[in-house]
Amino acid sequence: MPEIEQPVGTTLPADETPNTDTRSFGPASTPTHPLATAPVGMPSHSVDGFVREFLHELNTNQGVTLSRSSVNDQYLALASTVKNYLMARWLETGRKTREAKAKTIGYLSAEYLLGRQLGNALLATDLNEVASKGLELCGLDLATLRAQEVEPGLGNGGLGRLAACFIDSLATMDVPCIGYGIRYEYGIFRQTFVDGRQVEQPDTWLALGSPWEFPHPEASVQVNFGGHTEKATGADGKERTRWVPAWNVLGVPYNYMVPGYLNGRVNTLRLWSAQATKAFDLQIFNSGDYAQAVRAQTFAENISKVLYPEDSTPQGKELRLQQQYFFVACSLRDFIDNELEEDFDLHNLPERITYQLNDTHPVIAVPELMRLLIDEHDFAWDEAWEVTRHCFNYTCHTLLPEALEVWPTELLGRLLPRHLEIIYQINEEFLDDVREAFPGDEIRARRMSMIAEHPERGVRMAYLATVAASKVNGVAELHSQLLRDKVLPDFSELWPDKFTNVTNGVTPRRFVKLANPRLSDLISDAIGSGWVTDLERLKELEPYADDPEFKEKFREVKAANKTRLTTLLKARDGIELPDGHLLDVMVKRLHEYKRQSLKLLHIVSLYEQVTSGKLSASDLTPRTVVFGAKAAPGYKIAKDTIYLINKVAAKVNAAPELEGRLKVAFPANYNVTLAEELIPAADLSEQISLAGMEASGTGNMKLALNGALTIGTDDGANVEIRRLVGDKHFFLFGMNEPQVAELSAKGYDPGSYYQSNEQLRSALDLILSGHFSDGDQHQFDSVVFNLLNEDRFMALADFQSYIDAQAKVEERYADQEAWTRSAILNVARTGYFSSDRAMRDYLQRIWHTTPMI
Ligand SMILES: *Cc1c(COP(=O)(O)O)cnc(C)c1O
Repeated sequence: MPEIEQPVGTTLPADETPNTDTRSFGPASTPTHPLATAPVGMPSHSVDGFVREFLHELNTNQGVTLSRSSVNDQYLALASTVKNYLMARWLETGRKTREAKAKTIGYLSAEYLLGRQLGNALLATDLNEVASKGLELCGLDLATLRAQEVEPGLGNGGLGRLAACFIDSLATMDVPCIGYGIRYEYGIFRQTFVDGRQVEQPDTWLALGSPWEFPHPEASVQVNFGGHTEKATGADGKERTRWVPAWNVLGVPYNYMVPGYLNGRVNTLRLWSAQATKAFDLQIFNSGDYAQAVRAQTFAENISKVLYPEDSTPQGKELRLQQQYFFVACSLRDFIDNELEEDFDLHNLPERITYQLNDTHPVIAVPELMRLLIDEHDFAWDEAWEVTRHCFNYTCHTLLPEALEVWPTELLGRLLPRHLEIIYQINEEFLDDVREAFPGDEIRARRMSMIAEHPERGVRMAYLATVAASKVNGVAELHSQLLRDKVLPDFSELWPDKFTNVTNGVTPRRFVKLANPRLSDLISDAIGSGWVTDLERLKELEPYADDPEFKEKFREVKAANKTRLTTLLKARDGIELPDGHLLDVMVKRLHEYKRQSLKLLHIVSLYEQVTSGKLSASDLTPRTVVFGAKAAPGYKIAKDTIYLINKVAAKVNAAPELEGRLKVAFPANYNVTLAEELIPAADLSEQISLAGMEASGTGNMKLALNGALTIGTDDGANVEIRRLVGDKHFFLFGMNEPQVAELSAKGYDPGSYYQSNEQLRSALDLILSGHFSDGDQHQFDSVVFNLLNEDRFMALADFQSYIDAQAKVEERYADQEAWTRSAILNVARTGYFSSDRAMRDYLQRIWHTTPMI
């Protein structure tokens, strides 16, 4: 095809002229040309049309011909091409939503762990085949170009990934939603291992270009900080408060397309980037101190510079509070100024938007909306509160006390003096209500105060969220119950109807269709393709669990996915995966409550028993354990656990007795891209948190949907997974939550388990002996002494039960027919865990709105 070497023509047919209408990003002057309101046409879905578009992008956007182009040029041109297919739909979605005055979901989240965009965009537009063929005609390979994309890692783990799944589902269900968040210049760090230790590298996801974002500096929003407040009486005799801020920054919106699956809807994700305002530029001229002025600029831009890498353990840093206020201030402002009609009466705001607070990170939006209404729109307090409390809902994601954010009033007052005043007043009025509901119970009123007095005076953000929200939800049935009974009991007693549950879900588009095309084809061949948007239809697979031909094909799919993973890990990490092993997968953030240490004790125990001759290697089920986990950079025990896993892996993998029997693989930098490769290959899913500690988990759902069997505790959504797939197809072990509470109350003594369990003692002793640390007996004190002396998450108490459950795993795996049957039933019975269902539950129980028709 020599003609494709020619640069393509520069003139497009009229209906393909790029539209310059910017109304979806703010009010524009009334368009005069008829074409200015009509969205652009869509490029043709033919292979030729695609090639033409692709080469046009390569020539005009990248400024290269095909023969001179790099893989990165080709990837960027391909991304632009796919965007062109989505563009008309995107513009149309914005127009339609504004015209219908439909209620919008404002999803407020400090994190979005999106994963790569290209594959998902091709899926949503049904362009996979066309793109693949078109690129082939150009001598290019789609998979190679897809691999060029660096995923935007703008989240830590489950919470950020949940936000990404939710916005995918809302778009697919035709529900108007704007996701609001922060465009971190550096997302979650890139994990490397140096001599087995985690070393963090900055995530330079923007370095090679970011084709999926649309910056709109002209729509920037000013955000104020610091200063003080003043009271003044106006001409009307009313007293008003004025915030006199000390400094400000600009929030620049970057829009991302959120395409629904094959339905033509494209919602928007709007991430804010911080920039210095003009005030800083002026300083350059006025002060003459150029260096100082540039420092000020850097200071402003620091706000969106980096994602805090703590998962479930906030550090209470000033910059973090700046980030939180920065993005919610921009977001509230954006909706009022740009999405509503100019004459819109803000008393009716709850009819047009409902804000979902993804954990406490965006809760400062509550006093911010109050401030906007009272100080800038002249609302009376009661009127403003009436609107505010109908605009917000709050999702709690944890039970760990250390994960609940408390901002020192000193810091809050210094950074946001007006907001602290408003919080105090909300609290006062709330405590009046408490005293009215429970007369004479002053202790209760103190307990429920949003202001904590110890260890220092601070605002309990979860309480503020609970008071302001219409609905408060936990993320799995058990978690929601514990939230009501243990975390917020006073509040659920006061307002029982405020509390509800929505069990989390994951998007079947990314985590089945995209990640596991072989399984997807097998399912679609059996039951049709409707399951992709109606996942409960996987139920129709149940009869196939007894169909020998289907079972054989199911095993072939799993084997092929393992081969795909083997190829990837070889190239990515130099890891060799043996053939034909049970693939035992534990992938999630490294956290004590998730108990990677328990999995490690299982491995060490197998190693100890075989190398000491207590157990014959030939009795082991050939197994490869794969870990994927990042630790927060300041979380010492977690980082030491990573080091210990790598040291144990080195010994296990080098032991000749274990050759072909046990292997431990720990590819670095677990992220969404790696998850999409690992999960389809997994046989066994490790969900082994201490009961009552994992709010929901979503990794558990992804793995079950891809045909892995779970070994897990009665925790989070595991409870519901087990109920749905059936006890026979789930390996339950360990204490349940009431048993944990009972043991806790009695006084937990990990040492007693060490003393009484020979197998456990041998494993711990082997670590203590320095065997895994070149003779250094103290290398792993932090991990082992912690287990022996404190063991806050009771790994030792659940050890024996875990070992017993692993024996049952081996027994089942030995019977491949039985195992395959269980695996198919896991797929067939976990359709409930689609994030589409989760969104339907939010629509019914929390948002009280319906899809657009
Ligand atoms: C799903 C997912 C998580 C959450 O895993 P859990 O096992 O629920 O903690 C974390 N990180 C990534 C990259 C994910 O895809």
